[in-house]
Amino acid sequence: MKLSNPVSRLPKIGPVYLKRLEKLGIAKISDLLTHPPSRYLDYRKTKPIAKLRIGDIASVKAKLNFIRNQYTKSGKVMQLAEIEDTSGKMKIIWFNQPYLMMSLKRKIEYWFAGKIEFFGSDKAFIAPDYELGAGSIHTGRLIPIYPETYGVSSKWLRTKIAFALQVSKPEIVDFIPVTDLQKYSLMDYEAAIHKLHFPENEDEYLNAKKRLAFNELLTLTIRSTYRKERWKENIALYKIKVNSSQIDTFIKNLPFMLTLSQEKSVKEILTDLTKETPMNRLLEGDVGSGKTVVAAIGIFATFLAGYQSIVMAPTQILANQHFETLNKLFEKYKIRVKLITSNTKKGDLGKTDVFVGTHALIHRIIDSEQVGIIVIDEQHRFGVEQRTHLIKQSGSGNKIPHVLTMTATPIPRTVALTIYGDLDLSLLTELPVGRKPVTTWIVPSKKRSPAYDWIKKQIKNEHIQVFNICPLIEESEAETLKSVRAVVAEFESLKKIFKGYRVDILHGRMKPAEKDLAIKRFKEGKSDILVSTPVVEVGIDIANATIMIVEAAERFGLAQLHQLRGRVGRGSKKSYCLLLPTKYDRYVSKRLAALKSHNSGFELAEIDLKIRGPGEIFGTAQHGFYELKNASWEDTKLIKLAKGYADRIIVNRSKYKKLLNHVLGEEIGLN
Ligand code: ADP
Ligand code: MG
Repeated sequence: MKLSNPVSRLPKIGPVYLKRLEKLGIAKISDLLTHPPSRYLDYRKTKPIAKLRIGDIASVKAKLNFIRNQYTKSGKVMQLAEIEDTSGKMKIIWFNQPYLMMSLKRKIEYWFAGKIEFFGSDKAFIAPDYELGAGSIHTGRLIPIYPETYGVSSKWLRTKIAFALQVSKPEIVDFIPVTDLQKYSLMDYEAAIHKLHFPENEDEYLNAKKRLAFNELLTLTIRSTYRKERWKENIALYKIKVNSSQIDTFIKNLPFMLTLSQEKSVKEILTDLTKETPMNRLLEGDVGSGKTVVAAIGIFATFLAGYQSIVMAPTQILANQHFETLNKLFEKYKIRVKLITSNTKKGDLGKTDVFVGTHALIHRIIDSEQVGIIVIDEQHRFGVEQRTHLIKQSGSGNKIPHVLTMTATPIPRTVALTIYGDLDLSLLTELPVGRKPVTTWIVPSKKRSPAYDWIKKQIKNEHIQVFNICPLIEESEAETLKSVRAVVAEFESLKKIFKGYRVDILHGRMKPAEKDLAIKRFKEGKSDILVSTPVVEVGIDIANATIMIVEAAERFGLAQLHQLRGRVGRGSKKSYCLLLPTKYDRYVSKRLAALKSHNSGFELAEIDLKIRGPGEIFGTAQHGFYELKNASWEDTKLIKLAKGYADRIIVNRSKYKKLLNHVLGEEIGLN
């Protein structure tokens, strides 16, 4: 089967599963085959029943004597089974899986694998995995566990992947010549795909991972190089004549002094605007480094030259915020800023200088060709193709506006050169002066209650507000879901704990109007505590919020925690970040402690890698970068290796035609 086929070509994948898989980023067979496990269960040990000891994790081949439903004292149903091999008998129990009565047959031999635990005073398998036949997918080996989403279990994925591996094996072609593979110590592609899921040992896994990561990085590098070449074929819709004196006045009238790196970035942007080739610049800066005002100056220059601007945000909440900020900044200059919402109709707009809206909405409204600059905020939410599409829509043919993209993701320069090699880079390296660092505390569960008391006092005496961030429900793995306080549950529980205080909720499943209202109430100080998912509020700027609580903090990457922490400490009052881990060990404490002592997103990203180490995948949850599946942008060594190879390929284009065709596909074309 072709790797480019949709997964629906596999047996028993209908519309429902297609939707679920889409959430995992799986659409094609190739996506499925390179879908990375988050960890493995070690079922390699096989033992006869008599040799099994409490605590063992092992696989057993045995005959099923019986299976029946049994009711517990509390009225719950469990399935009790007995298995037997030549060495002895043992019980198995499952909880609440009555369908097993249908799928497991008496007198048939199966492989069972799992942990041996006490059942009364006997040993038993508790909810083991099982399989018929050779015992080579779900038992008897290292078993891949995938990050789960609702309705897609690891067992299901494993089954489909094993099948897809079989039927598509002849289609898996390695585009890297063998001599190059040897030179870069890379595993063969087909083997890598296979061993990613079914390695015999850790070494095989690491090599498989490395090869797939290399492919991803190589693809990104080659694509961005070609995009850069392509971009140069564009012509700016408008060369902006920069009115320096008015811009200087604007900057002088700001309520603060620009930082040095803000000044430098402004200069870079203004220079770009005057050019014939449209700007394609990434403005990268830590949370709170002041990207908005830098973009605003670019917009101001565009306005002075007589052209329109577009500001695109990933969420409506952020669009609203940009709208307010820009309105304030441009108050004295008669600049007409308009907010696009789902209710905005084309006719309503009238004359507008700056359009602000989400990427989803903004292009339904605008078809003018008066746009001088597009500003895209929080770039990591947009795919590269999606971005290009949006940009093209605002121009005609190869005449397009200048583009400024802003991101707070701390991507080191080397990495940015690879993934965003087509973009020029402006870095905001320092925070505005006078910003007080946020005091960070790690709160173990027994200190939770005193912490809440302290927060109550803060709200009462200081009249400050509190963010309470819960882990994202969809990102939870099934086994830890229990320990995670889901947003709604947290909301209900906090309402009780904070009786007499105004607790509000904000999450992605709420209607847009409800979300707006929740933010508005919080902004206006009409709620004390906002319980929210981590995604909704990225980039939000509320000066009176001085306490950030992060639930299940160990589940977040350090850079992500740092971003969340950046939501407070924006005003003049002292701010705090309280990290509440649900799991606490040396490893967790070491990672979280790094947040106490470091205030730079870049540093934290690096520390995270060092503490986790590249082999850490066998343990805790992984947090990937949006376009990377198996690669990690922290792996600068491999990134450099891939970049070096990509450069070689591009210099010798004719020799690598096949590889280039494959990598670039239809997206860019080769001629
Ligand atoms: P981010 O880079 O995270 O998007 P913002 O642009 O939202 O940051 O800026 C954060 C806050 O810092 C805003 O309230 C903004 O007005 C303020 N700010 C920006 N630049 C400066 C500066 N040079 N000095 C002081 N405050 C600044
Ligand atoms: Mg921002």
